[in-house]
Amino acid sequence: MSNPEAAADDLPFRAIDDIGVRVPPGVTLPAELESTVKHLAGLTRGTGIVMAAKAVAADPTPAGTLQTVLSLLRALVFGRAQQTIDEVVADAPKLACKSGCAWCCYQSIEATIPEAILVAIELGAPDDPRRAAVLANAQAFRGLGEGERRRTGKPCALLVDKSCSVYENRPLMCRAMMAGDANQCRAAHQAAVAGKPDLPVELFLFAQYFILGDQAGMRGILRDMGLQDDLVELTQAVAAILGDPGIVDRWLAGERVFGPEMAPPALREELAARQQSQAVPAE
Ligand code: SF4
Ligand code: SF4
Repeated sequence: MSNPEAAADDLPFRAIDDIGVRVPPGVTLPAELESTVKHLAGLTRGTGIVMAAKAVAADPTPAGTLQTVLSLLRALVFGRAQQTIDEVVADAPKLACKSGCAWCCYQSIEATIPEAILVAIELGAPDDPRRAAVLANAQAFRGLGEGERRRTGKPCALLVDKSCSVYENRPLMCRAMMAGDANQCRAAHQAAVAGKPDLPVELFLFAQYFILGDQAGMRGILRDMGLQDDLVELTQAVAAILGDPGIVDRWLAGERVFGPEMAPPALREELAARQQSQAVPAE
């Protein structure tokens, strides 16, 4: 990965320490890499909040704020992730990912709230069959742990004819799934469905970590805008938005509307414990 720190010295920076950058499981990070990723996340946050402040001042309506958030997600955050992906593609002749390969689309997907909103907007037509599929999956997966969700053997409801139907707007964590051997992905998926122990998959974990940095940068922008920045599980959050479009307006008003039941399985317990500790005791 190139290190753009020197060239970016004059860009707005806001440290990401209050959020942190999640580390892919099983990864030991070289200190230099950790520092670079946190710096890039801080640049994303700093640049994003400067851009957001100008845009919201020009249009302070909820619709304007939503447009600002989604524009930052697509142009700044997805743009930054694409740079990482381009570098992996250029440097990794072993990259096995290609259209029609989707063994990685049978698991929970963690996302920031604007990523879920973006997908829900894609499903805006009332007769879109993916709406019913998302709602059915959300009901089937509700409350399941990650292993239980994978054992259902059900793909993401947005997978249509073995391709992602929201590819241009797919969440960061879908973009971060990059592997060197599709057979490993298939075997791991089949083992998960059969309830067998996890099988190893050779993923490009350092690239995934850079994209987790982009995710942290997006969360930082939301936090600085006074918006709930918790991670959500994509299917649960999209289903919640489809079922209650007013939820987006309440989120834009600063309410914490995406509860622990919508968190990715790995974060659910952690989030529930945090919200309980923040609760004001009844008088
Ligand atoms: S991560 Fe694995 S399953 Fe997903 S597209 Fe790449 S090779 Fe295919
Ligand atoms: S959003 Fe697209 S890439 Fe992500 S899991 Fe669903 S179908 Fe796969």
